[in-house]
Formats: sequence, structure tokens, C-alpha cells
Amino acid sequence: MTVPSAKEQMPGGTPADSRNVDFIRRTINDDLNTGKHRQIVTRFPPEPNGFLHIGHAKSICLNFGIALEYGGICHLRFDDTDPAKEDTLFEESIQADVRWLGFDWKGKLFHASDYFETMYDCAIQLIRDGKAYVCSLSEAEIREYRGTVTEPGKPSPYRERSIDENLELFQKMRRGEFKNGEHVLRAKIDMASPNMKMRDPLLYRIRHVSHHMTGDTWCIYPMYDFAHPISDALECITHSLCTLEFENNRELYDWVVENLTLPSRPVQIEFARLNLNYTVMSKRRLLTLVEGKYVNGWDDPRLPTISGLRRRGYTPEAIRNFCESVGIAKANSVVDMAQLEYCIRDDLNTRAPRVLCVLKPLKVVIENWPEGKTEEIDAPYYPEDVPKEGSRKLTFSREVYIEQNDFMEEPPKGYHRLSPGAEVRLRYGYVIRCEDVIKDARGNVVELRCSYDPATGGGAAPEGRKVKGVIHWVSADHSSPAEVRLYDRLLTVPNPDAEKGEFTDYLNPDSLQVLSGCRIEAAVAGAAVGDRFQFERQGYFCVDPDSKPGNLVFNRIVTLRDSWAKQVQKTEDPPKPEPKKEKPKAEPRSVQADRPEISEKPLTPQQEERLNHYRLELGLPYEDALLLAQDPAVSKLFEDALARHDNAKGLANWINNELLRELKDRPVDALPFGGAELAELVVLMDDGTISSKIAKDVFADMLTGGGNPKAIVEKKDLRQMTDPAELQPVIDGILAANPDSVAKYRGGNDRLFGFFVGQVMKQTGGRANPELLNRLLRDALKG
Ligand code: ATP
Ligand code: MG
Repeated sequence: MTVPSAKEQMPGGTPADSRNVDFIRRTINDDLNTGKHRQIVTRFPPEPNGFLHIGHAKSICLNFGIALEYGGICHLRFDDTDPAKEDTLFEESIQADVRWLGFDWKGKLFHASDYFETMYDCAIQLIRDGKAYVCSLSEAEIREYRGTVTEPGKPSPYRERSIDENLELFQKMRRGEFKNGEHVLRAKIDMASPNMKMRDPLLYRIRHVSHHMTGDTWCIYPMYDFAHPISDALECITHSLCTLEFENNRELYDWVVENLTLPSRPVQIEFARLNLNYTVMSKRRLLTLVEGKYVNGWDDPRLPTISGLRRRGYTPEAIRNFCESVGIAKANSVVDMAQLEYCIRDDLNTRAPRVLCVLKPLKVVIENWPEGKTEEIDAPYYPEDVPKEGSRKLTFSREVYIEQNDFMEEPPKGYHRLSPGAEVRLRYGYVIRCEDVIKDARGNVVELRCSYDPATGGGAAPEGRKVKGVIHWVSADHSSPAEVRLYDRLLTVPNPDAEKGEFTDYLNPDSLQVLSGCRIEAAVAGAAVGDRFQFERQGYFCVDPDSKPGNLVFNRIVTLRDSWAKQVQKTEDPPKPEPKKEKPKAEPRSVQADRPEISEKPLTPQQEERLNHYRLELGLPYEDALLLAQDPAVSKLFEDALARHDNAKGLANWINNELLRELKDRPVDALPFGGAELAELVVLMDDGTISSKIAKDVFADMLTGGGNPKAIVEKKDLRQMTDPAELQPVIDGILAANPDSVAKYRGGNDRLFGFFVGQVMKQTGGRANPELLNRLLRDALKG
């Protein structure tokens, strides 16, 4: 038996059209239209001093995404100008992450250090042109001379060194004749510039450190502001996209490319960096967590690193969709973690097979099931609303495990799971009743003795008996042990910078919870590392590399629904959306534009019962079931109606799409009608007495005046015309009154058909049965 599991798909390039694009793509479109560029070249320039995080993913999706959309190319360039912190290990992880996200640099992998010799020549050119000098002030003095934002700086006493002296000193710097910090090379620009970056910025400094690429060839290293524009220009980058903190560096970037002879003239464009709440994103902080052993390595599933997210079970598609949903903006803001979680749920919903896993097992012995007897049950991997097929066999047997919290010895009212004497359905299996409770010496429940009802196999519910609770289970002998790791937010506060103390003071002590002794159904036993599943009622899970044969380890990727958002909003201001989202996407959890809101509060046990009943037994899609389950008055209305008319989908549609929308915040109990009338309305539609359009009019009457839909239909004569003898004369009359249109239609103008339909509908007050009208009209128009 093969187990399907959620696999990755490649990103596609769609050319950006000019209507709905962000400011970066607009600039690119202009540059292509004016002929400034014929091919777009971007680059992603990480410093190899740590692992990439989700913020980098945004930059990767932007740079590589643009290259894909415009048929251009995106270079991967390691910005390795600071030898002390950089490492080949990091370079490897960065390449793996970019590839995993689905992007390809097509052989264009470079290092800033590839250009050290050229950069040195550029520095010599600036010195010769009188635009750079060797400065021998100490670091502290340089800072002091630079002035402040409100006061201009003062010139270094070394500013007027002769070109020859500068050349000689700089060459000696390169030869290693000075110690660290003895001299630096500075650009000679303007010590009074309002932009501090232009006050004779440093271009080179002495660092007697080996470099992971160039070894001991160099003991002077270029600064980022010098190396970056030169690298971009040498690679003929057309658009150098960077984050907002480099806005002030742009003037210097331009100065460098303008004052040197280089093969191209790139431009820098800044965009807002991605910030997420409840986590940390700077490499320095991530390093603190990894080196301080607060987490288990760079790929700890709690970290927002790409490798952590991958191990946790995130898909590249979800991360790409997330980056797209965040949009490209010019102002920094903080994105809610719930938005990222929404994206992975949204992706896995249609991809992850549903399986059964019991996290905290409680043994159940089914006493009237013969010892040794087993029965195979075919169970689908996907629910009805997922257009995917596949199923596996579940084995039903005498001993099964259920979840400890699916049993309560003294249940509160409305608890529909198992309790002494109560019944519950085992998903896909039989209805069982709890006959006896076995406890250990300390009074803990250790086993349940149950009976099963043979008449309830195959999901059938015997007449006259309702079983509301459906719970998951596994057979004791046909399941394997597993370890499950549950994750929660890394931090207890949204923004540690807004709090006192260190960010490490706010690490969530419950961010990892390890459950051993879980039981997973047999079909999953052969799953491979990285395979993803939905454990019914529990969330989405991914097989961890720590798995061993016979003991799989699963990471919980995300829960099935967001129980965080509401709790969070109580304690903080709602996160501001990025201004001017260029590509608005459906907000998390808004089902349809005008459908009612789904509450984000965690469900009560009663609500959860109803949700499961509606979903699992009535077969309603998740969101529909949730809308009906979250408000007891709505659930009652629905159930009353269902008792009279057995069309759960039709009733759910009507309640969710029409009723709740009309009601807005008014309580359902205040309606002038109940479930019986609602059922009658849907019956009238289902048996063809009225069209759905007329049903809306009837419904409007019911809302204002109350009453019985049948009576309204009779009184207003709204019954559909289903009798050809009644409709034919109307059609004939319309055709007779419009001879020109008839002639045109017969002459080939098919579009006039709609005109005739409209005329008939108008005359019949919308009562003509659409199918009948269609047929009669076509015949009549044939002539
Ligand atoms: P950090 O500040 O997190 O340590 P960094 O900016 O020093 O990261 P680099 O390796 O220099 O990391 O970044 C490579 C590219 O990724 C740069 O173009 C940078 O602007 C971009 N980038 C880094 N962090 C983010 C972020 N949070 N959102 C968007 N882009 C980012
Ligand atoms: Mg950096």
C-alpha cells in the first residue's frame, strides 16, 4: 500500500502586467518600455555568516521571482567582505535553502571576494583622481570628527595628503606593513553633507584575518558600501533591491558607480523588510539562540530559519505564497505569525492525506467483539471537498486506542464524546458504548470496557438513534508507536524590543512539548522523512529526520485552526497591515467576501462536538460546519430544520450565505421564524416549486413579516411556471411583439437569446422555470 503525502511543486513565472504591480515592478516595466534595459538582472546577496530566515525568503522570492517573471536572471552572490564571521558551511546551507524554495541561479554564483583585485584597482583609481585618501585617525576619532545629524563634521587632518603619499600608504596597507586599525582608506566627499553616510565614508580597513575564499591573500578588506555597488556593476545587475535600512546608503552607492569606470550603472531600490511577531529574525539573535543552546541547532523547528521551517514541515509553496501575500511596501511593519500559519494550512488542506493518530492513548476493549477477529475498513485519504482520491484500509479489532481526553467520567452537559453509558462513533468504524471504567490504584482511568453495535458499520446510523460524537482511534495491534513534537510560539511576547531586559527573557518555556507513546495507524508506518499528513482533529504533521524504523517522530507543523489570533488581540494592538498592499490576497479566514466571520476563539467541547458531527457525519465542508457549530442558536436552527428536511448541504448554504449575512449582529433567537419554516423554504426550492431567485424574495418576506413560506408563495403567486401549456403563450406573445429581433436571431445573432429570456422573465415576474423556458424558447425561435 502506498501512502500519499504532500509533495512540493515548482514556482511558475507569470509576466507582471502593469495594472496591479508594486513600485519595483512598475520601475522595471518603465525601464523595459523606454528601452533602458532589454534583460533584467537581479541578485540575492546574502552574507554567509548564518542561516537564512523567512525574511531572506521575502528577498529571495522578490529577486528570483522578478527574474522568472521577466525572463531575466538572478545571481546568487555571497557578500563575503567581512572574513571574521563567514564560513563555507553557511554558504552550503544558503544554496540548499534557495534551491529548496524552488529557485535557480542558473550557474551565476559569485562571491564579492571574486572581485577583490578589481576593487583594489578601483580604490587606486579613486586615489589617483584625488577622491580617496588614507586616514590615520583612530576609530573613535573618526566617529568624533564625523559630527552629528545636527552638526557638520570636521575634516580629518589627513584629508589633504598628497596623491603619491596616499598611493604609497595604501600599497603598504595591502602588503601588510600595518597593524589592524592603524589606517583606513576613505572616500573624499563632503564632511558637511546632511547625509552622514557621505561624510568621507570608509572604503577599506586593515584586517589580519584569513578569508574562507581568499585565504591570506589579503589583509585589507573593502567595506560593504564600496564592495556592493562595484559587484553589482561588474555583474551588470539592472536593479539592486535591498531593504529600507539602506536608504541612506543609496547616495553613496550612486557616488561609487558614478566616480569609477565600470561596465554598467545599476540602481538601488529599497523595500520594507519582513518582520514577524513572536519570533526573532536577526542572524545575531538566531546565533545567540543556537550557540546558547536555547534551541537544538539552526534547523530547530521553532526557529523562523528556512531550515527550521523546512524541518517543521512547511512547504516551499506556502512560504512563497506567504511572501506574496505580504506584498512589497515602502514602510516597515510587523506581520502576524497567524498569516504565515494560514498559508501553510491553506496549502496542506488540499495536499495532505488525512490519517488517524492517537496522541495520548487510552485503551478500549470491545467486549462483544470476538478475540482475534479483525475487519478491514476502507477509509478515504481526502475529504469530499478535496479533489483527490486514494484510500487505505483501517483494521478494526477488539482492542483499540482512543484519545484520553475523548473520555470523561463526569461529562458536562453537551459533551458528546465517550462517558459511562454513552455512545460515540469511531471514525469510519462502529458506534461503541462505554460499559465499564477500569482504574489503577490511584484512581486514574487506565482502560475502558465497551460494547459495539454491529448495525452501525460503514458509517450507517441506525434509525431513530443519533450519535453526535465522532472520535479518532487506532487498533492496538494494527498501529505503531510514534513520538509527536508539538510546537508553540518561540516567544511569549509579540515584540521583545518593546519589553525590558533581553529577548532571551521572553522565550516561551512551552514552545516544545514532546509526546512519546503516541499510536499511529498502520498505513503510515512506512512514511519517509519529510512526508506530511493531517492527523484528523489534531493538525498537520511532518515526519522528522530523528525518526527510526518502528518509531516515527512527527513535528506538528500547525494546528487545524488558529486559536491564537483572538487571544493575542486582547493583549496588543492589532498588527498594522502594510500600507498599500500591492497585491491584495484573501485575508486569512475570510471565507467569502460577504459571509459572516468565523470566530477565532478556541472552540468549547460542545462546539467541537457539533463541528465534528457536521463535518464527519453530515459531510459538510469544514468552514460551513464551523460557521454552523460556533453559535448554539444557529446550530439549533440548523438541526431543527434538518430534522424536517434531510438536505444538510442545502440548509447549510442557506443559513451561511443568506441568513447570517442578513442578520449581521442580530441574534438568531430573535428571528420571526424557526427551523421548520426554513426547512420548508428549502423544500420548495428542492422540489422545483420556486427558483432560488424567488426563494430570496420569499426569504426577505419571512425576515420582515415572519410566517410560512408556502403561504407566502401561494399568496403572492410565486410558484414557478412548470407547465408548458402555461408558458408557451407567453413566449409566443413575446416573439410576436419583437419581429425584428426574431429575424436577427434567425439570421445568426445568437446573443439575442438572452434578450428573449429576459423578456419572458419580466412578464412572468421571474416565475418561469428556467429549464422549461430554455427548451420552449429554443424551439419557438427555430421557427
Ligand atoms: P539580518 O539583519 O537578519 O542578520 P542581514 O540583512 O544581515 O540579515 P544579509 O545576508 O545581509 O542579512 O541579507 C541578504 C539579503 O536579504 C539582503 O538583500 C537583505 O536586505 C535581505 N534581507 C535580510 N533580512 C530581510 C528581511 N527581514 N526582510 C526582507 N529582506 C531581508
Ligand atoms: Mg547584513
